Amino acid sequence: MTERCDVVVVGGGLLGCVLAWMLAREGADVVLLERDQVNQHASGQNAGSLHFQLEYRMVEAGLESARRAAEAMPLHLDSASLWATLGDELGESLGVIQNGGLMLAESAEQAKLLEAKSDIERSWGLDVRMMDGDEVRAIAPYLSDTVVAAAYCPIEGKADTRTAAPALARGAMRHGARVRTRTAVTAMNRKAGGWAVSTEEHAIHGRRSSNIVHADSVVIAGGVWTTELGDMVSAHLPTIAVALTMTVTVKVPKFIPHLVQHAGAKLSLKQSGDGNILIGGGWPARLLNTPEGKPDLYSRPELLRKSVAGNARAASRVVPAVQKIPALRTWVGTTTLTPDQLPLVGPVPNAPGMFVATGGSAFTLGPSFARVLTELVLGRPPSIDLSPYDPSRYRSQNA
Ligand SMILES: Cc1cc2nc3c(=O)[nH]c(=O)nc-3n(C[C@H](O)[C@H](O)[C@H](O)COP(=O)(O)OP(=O)(O)OC[C@H]3O[C@@H](n4cnc5c(N)ncnc54)[C@H](O)[C@@H]3O)c2cc1C
Repeated sequence: MTERCDVVVVGGGLLGCVLAWMLAREGADVVLLERDQVNQHASGQNAGSLHFQLEYRMVEAGLESARRAAEAMPLHLDSASLWATLGDELGESLGVIQNGGLMLAESAEQAKLLEAKSDIERSWGLDVRMMDGDEVRAIAPYLSDTVVAAAYCPIEGKADTRTAAPALARGAMRHGARVRTRTAVTAMNRKAGGWAVSTEEHAIHGRRSSNIVHADSVVIAGGVWTTELGDMVSAHLPTIAVALTMTVTVKVPKFIPHLVQHAGAKLSLKQSGDGNILIGGGWPARLLNTPEGKPDLYSRPELLRKSVAGNARAASRVVPAVQKIPALRTWVGTTTLTPDQLPLVGPVPNAPGMFVATGGSAFTLGPSFARVLTELVLGRPPSIDLSPYDPSRYRSQNA
């Protein structure tokens, strides 16, 4: 069977779903191809933090690396404003709350680092203010006395990772997009000015059927499988797979309105709309290896008890009430970083009509990635300068 459309979107995570919705809303005929179900991987497993300040992993390696990471700030600012209106435009709630985020310091050295980091961010236009310990506790009385300062960013917050991507997929379908789940992309070939995308559908009772979807453009929204998808067209799209740990507590009355992060520890903490406290921040899980010694992206990573304990310690030190709240569940998920920590966003090298976006906090940045990809696909100049994130910066490694 063959099928025709304007744009194939590969991947039904947050990025693929918001992209399919944006493209279909503009009148493009879109087919979204997802090997599993929508929202099964990183987009449905993550912490849901909408963080626009530089993260701990970006400041822990020093200010030079923070400066480099800040080159993604135009995407942060764009995404902050997109998340604020996305639910209303879609007509379904995405659980977005932007009550502000606090990045905490528990020592004079961390406070100094936060000040320098905030200076860098302000130079890019992000609204970040430093507060001393008493000022912070005045707006966040749940914090411990060990907090001596914080950087406060009023536009930070959270979204509901369980519902955001599925709601966007439904929105795309309302605009005519065809969402094909259980449908893996197995090859992509350039044909007659467009692309022939080969798929294998895993129907019920183990039956499989092969199809080809012809499209003018293809967008790779494949998360950790981006490198594998690039390999199908001999384009080197380098990504590093990182397995991470999350914990959620039972529901308790609401007392944490902010997104809480830390300048000297792996920590992100927030309370969901239902009252559960979500605790994460970059504690590792263990990726399994294939027999060839490569990361096995198809198996669930192994939970490390050390990470669960370390994360709980970091959380309860700054929010002491957490010590008495029982954990409900821990889980692991795998996400992508790039070798230089900046996202990959733009045209796929040597593949006309093919585009890609991934890397870093692609839940936070998904709407902004999708906006510029929509512009590229529709032949409009992108509203953000994409040169720092150009996938061809790894050109020398391309075939
Ligand atoms: C534990 C954890 C916590 C995190 N916390 C945050 C956070 O708080 N904030 C934040 O911004 N980011 C966070 N992240 C990162 C964030 O989750 C990811 O960057 C983001 O969800 C990536 O979205 P995506 O749509 O690009 O990829 P995914 O959600 O992984 O979706 C990619 C999809 O592509 C499909 N696919 C791949 N190959 C094929 C193929 N050949 N054919 C068909 N389909 C294919 C996959 O099945 C998958 O569904 C976290 C990640 C983890 C794991």
